[in-house]
Amino acid sequence: MPHADCIFCLAQSNPAADATNFVLYRGAGNFIILNRYPYISGHLMIAPNSHLSEFDEAPKQLTDEMMDLAKRCQSALRATYHPDGFNIGMNLGRAAGAGVADHFHLHIVPRWNGDTNFMSTVGDTRVLPEALETTFRKLKARF
Ligand SMILES: [Zn+2]
Repeated sequence: MPHADCIFCLAQSNPAADATNFVLYRGAGNFIILNRYPYISGHLMIAPNSHLSEFDEAPKQLTDEMMDLAKRCQSALRATYHPDGFNIGMNLGRAAGAGVADHFHLHIVPRWNGDTNFMSTVGDTRVLPEALETTFRKLKARF
């Protein structure tokens, strides 16, 4: 069941708004979406179409596709932004830092040498070197 207050369910259930929700790609069981509040440009997330909280209870077919999509994300980011490295991972549960704890999702974050300074924040203002619309347009062409 989609949850009305879940950002992933909202985006997943409204394909007509993919461009404004920054949904890059829809697979059989998962979709790829830009993080609206990225710490760095190109921060992607892959989430199941279904509102699932437990990674280890998800069907193998679904998590296999998630890994395949993670590879595609890495390739797309590498070809577009030429990062020096990547962080790929999940925060499962609020204690682990999950912003949306009850709809698990995989983060793919490109990294550059020295980007910790680049990402530094002033108060709650994050430094965004590129507009989300620009990131979306660039990456959309890769999927
Ligand atoms: Zn959800």
